[in-house]
Amino acid sequence: MTEPSSRPPLFERLFAQRTLLPMARVFVVLVCVLLFASVAWMLWSARETRLQEAQMATSNLAYSVSRHAQDTLKKADTILVSLSERLQVDGRDPQQLQRLHRLLQVQVRELQDLHGLFVYDRDGHWLVSSFDTIPHDANNSDREYFRFHRDNPDLGPHIGLPVRSRTTGTWVIPLSRRLNDAQGQFAGVLLATIDMDYFLRFYRTFDTMQYGAISLSLDNGTLLVRQPFAEALIGADLSAGPVFHDYLPRQPVGNLSGVSLVDGEARLYSYRHLEGYPLVATAALAEREVLASWMREVYVQMGITLFVVVLLGLFGFHLIRQIKAGLATEQALRTTRDSLELLNQRLEKLALEDELTGLANRRHFMSRLAEEVLRAGRNQRSLGLLMLDVDYFKQFNDLYGHSDGDVCLRSLGRVLRAAQKRPGDLAARYGGEEFCLLLPETDAAGAQAVAEQVRGNLEALAIAHAGHPLGIVTVSIGVHALVPVGDGTDAATLLHCADRALYQAKAKGRNRVLRFEISLFKEKL
Ligand code: GH3
Ligand code: MG
Ligand code: MG
Repeated sequence: MTEPSSRPPLFERLFAQRTLLPMARVFVVLVCVLLFASVAWMLWSARETRLQEAQMATSNLAYSVSRHAQDTLKKADTILVSLSERLQVDGRDPQQLQRLHRLLQVQVRELQDLHGLFVYDRDGHWLVSSFDTIPHDANNSDREYFRFHRDNPDLGPHIGLPVRSRTTGTWVIPLSRRLNDAQGQFAGVLLATIDMDYFLRFYRTFDTMQYGAISLSLDNGTLLVRQPFAEALIGADLSAGPVFHDYLPRQPVGNLSGVSLVDGEARLYSYRHLEGYPLVATAALAEREVLASWMREVYVQMGITLFVVVLLGLFGFHLIRQIKAGLATEQALRTTRDSLELLNQRLEKLALEDELTGLANRRHFMSRLAEEVLRAGRNQRSLGLLMLDVDYFKQFNDLYGHSDGDVCLRSLGRVLRAAQKRPGDLAARYGGEEFCLLLPETDAAGAQAVAEQVRGNLEALAIAHAGHPLGIVTVSIGVHALVPVGDGTDAATLLHCADRALYQAKAKGRNRVLRFEISLFKEKL
């Protein structure tokens, strides 16, 4: 079997008084920090969710805008392709052109997004248009789209910079194709103009808040239409902006957050390149508007958390103060208990010790006598006792005074202390100038030998005593030893017999040791 450990269990050691206070402090601080951290984490993830939702909205918006632009352009372009076909097959005599004029008018009437349809010859003169009249000397060879097709053999569609219509004065986006003759030479330009307002009306149906933006640009970064509309921005170069510079070259569709080149606003962008046309649709929401309600939530949550943390801190530190006070009280109690214990020990010593000689007092002697009688009885061993009385001490006091008498008693005390050779021996002041020496495990002969030593040692001190026939202080000693019989009278018998022997020693002339012998006292017992 293993010995039970004297160390306290781990839990108790952890929460020992010494560590309680620092642990309480760490606990309070930790709870406050964790509370802040968890609220901060919650707010951060709420922010991420808001941004993700907004990005999803801009992504859907960009898709709608691109789809709308694609459909619009496709319709106009289809008309241009069929017009090209018709001109190549039917030729351009006046009769044909008149029929074509009516057809163009019908098509423009049918399609509300279409502003006009035009056919120009190789010099830029109007051949036919969807409008009622052809302006006199009208020539569009100066327009960007005309110069593009004249100088470029590509037969694909071309989207030019928005222009103000020469016929109606409104902003239009030109979609054009090159017209070739039978020999494949440049024979003119076919043009469809799309009302910019048609795009803007569509864009205004979406709620992009105050600082959101929807735009359609050429894929080289040239802005065509933007909601909110600003005339000055038409044709603006956005190629250095985050969409065209960083993202579009890598992928045709994407999301990003960046700062606008137009107004410096931080926005969440989604863009989408149109299929088959060199256009990019962009939808964006301002970050500050997306996060506005989140910011309000941050203020409220942080305010509440701060309040709770302050409360918790105050309560925690009040608790710590209480613990501190408790510990101080406990410490004071412990100190008081220790000093009481010390005092008790002193009192106990005082209660057992003779003040003058420092030997055991009568009470101490009596209790030890009872113990030793029991022990000797159990072990059937002899217990010896010496009873001493200073000779002619009354005269000593009378001659030298009481305080010299005390000094003399102290000297005898030292002699008796020196006579305690074994741990169980006990020298005591029995009362006045009478002393005892209890000698366990000692028979009468042994006790007598010790008594002779004591008597001799005192005699050797040669304390002057003018009232003594010998001129020095001496003692008479009565000795007795017995093996207790255990009938309850042993202690009294031992005392009584030693006392009787002392009495006899006095009677026989003092300064001597006398052993109790029944024959000596027969007549008196
Ligand atoms: P005997 O030889 O027969 O013993 O004669 P004695 O003078 O010693 O007689 P007794 O034993 O009756 O005297 C005891 C004296 O011891 C009386 C008292 O004055 C003195 N005495 C007792 N206690 C003290 C004490 O504490 N100090 C001093 N100085 N004297 C004490
Ligand atoms: Mg006496
Ligand atoms: Mg005496």
